[in-house]
Amino acid sequence: MVARVIPVEDFDLVIFGGTGDLARRKILPGLFRRYLSGQMPVESRIIGAARSDIDSDGYRTMIKEAILEFGGEESQDSNGLDAFLAQIEYVPIDAKGEGGWVELAELVRNDVVQAFYFSVAPSLFGDLAERLHRHKIASATSRIVVEKPFGRDLESARKLNDVLALHFDEGQIYRIDHYLGKETVQNLMAVRFGNVLFEPLWNNHYVDHIQITVAETVGVGGRGSYYDKSGAMRDMVQNHLMQLLCLIAMEPPSQFGADEVRDEKLKVIRALEPIMPHHIVRGQYENSANGPSYREDAENPRSHTESFVAMKCHISNWRWSGVPFYLRTGKRLKARTSEIAVVFKPLGHSIFEGQEEQQNILAIHLQPNEGIDLQVTIKEPGPGGMRLVNVPLDMTFAEALGDSDVEVTDAYERLIMDVIRGNQTLFMRGDEVEAAWGWTDPIIEGWEARNDVPKTYSAGSSGPDDALMLLHRDGRKWREIKG
Ligand code: NAP
Repeated sequence: MVARVIPVEDFDLVIFGGTGDLARRKILPGLFRRYLSGQMPVESRIIGAARSDIDSDGYRTMIKEAILEFGGEESQDSNGLDAFLAQIEYVPIDAKGEGGWVELAELVRNDVVQAFYFSVAPSLFGDLAERLHRHKIASATSRIVVEKPFGRDLESARKLNDVLALHFDEGQIYRIDHYLGKETVQNLMAVRFGNVLFEPLWNNHYVDHIQITVAETVGVGGRGSYYDKSGAMRDMVQNHLMQLLCLIAMEPPSQFGADEVRDEKLKVIRALEPIMPHHIVRGQYENSANGPSYREDAENPRSHTESFVAMKCHISNWRWSGVPFYLRTGKRLKARTSEIAVVFKPLGHSIFEGQEEQQNILAIHLQPNEGIDLQVTIKEPGPGGMRLVNVPLDMTFAEALGDSDVEVTDAYERLIMDVIRGNQTLFMRGDEVEAAWGWTDPIIEGWEARNDVPKTYSAGSSGPDDALMLLHRDGRKWREIKG
């Protein structure tokens, strides 16, 4: 089955920070793929803006190089690339200065969808919003896209929300969490709410516990000084892991609309119980034969910042009372993998010998390979009596849908196209972000008040032993981290 491509309306997309790493590595290669798939109308334009004093030709050369480097196989389509580049312009602009705004105002059209991507440090959001408004470039229907980190605590997140709210309504603000743009995350909602099979089991009567793992093999080298002020809790848990937790735990929304979905996610965050200090483990990687330690990477020999967190959370509502949600994330772990596992309770009574250990598990894999499988127990084929095995039932049905033709859309591409369509379902609302900080702030403040020292762990391991104990004490174990 060939993926259906629905063209979007004509648009002008201005990328502030258009010369930066994110624009070159993700945003523009993603837009190029959408262009090749026929989703970007020929009348649409992308306008890069940053301080670098280059002209549009210089910018096109920069973007061509970036697409050739980061664009994957499709970037070899040189005719397509030249045609795509013809739709790109550049304006030198300092977010804090006055130059360039008049030129930008002349370029951006009023009769097409207008989107402004703030791919710059959050400290510039206020300057950009104010100038877009003052120079009458943005209108009441323009959309703005903002990147993580959205604050570093509740207070700073509130300030960012307030500064944006001076010039834009909530319905115009698209806060990106690229985990929500993944195909499988949307498939998770389709599986949950599009079938009669799962929802009746999706509660504390049938679910034993849920594990969410986001493991990386890379360290913080290269961005150590930024990361050292942040840590895994701010960098990963407050946004990505909590968003995944919300999607797994939320009640069915009345319809698949932006506010309906986000209202339900917000209720989950508000129902999270405060976390007990002994239900959370912080870790920091040590040096090893294949790389430096966290402290060396961060160039801070006394750093107490965590590069790993594991925790046990509880959601205080009827559906989830008594069901632990185990979350973990870390750098320099054994393999790069992100997955959610819904582990169902063992059978109350089995008529088969030796089946006590087997539990159904719904595993949602986000990376490196996206997919969903359900571990079910079946009879091992062949003679020799009733021997049972656990096998994964592949629920991505790539073959049934003709996987060779189904396009794998990158999270950024999908989200940018959602901005152009005006669909906020997969973006975080301001109150969600604030509620998430409201839950993580006391945890971080507790560490700071006690001057908590993270446990060390070896690079290439599954994290500190204490994280294993977190489940072991409950008679459970983490799923293996494997790529
Ligand atoms: P970056 O490589 O440092 O790029 C920053 C961009 O901002 C450059 O284009 C820079 O260009 C421009 N800029 C800086 N000061 C400016 C000013 N006063 N006026 C106008 N433009 C200015 O950063 P990045 O990695 O692309 O990240 C951009 C944002 O996305 C950050 O908020 C970051 O946290 C977030 N983010 C990045 C990634 C990623 O993978 N890179 C992932 C998630 C989130 P000039 O120097 O030419 O002005």
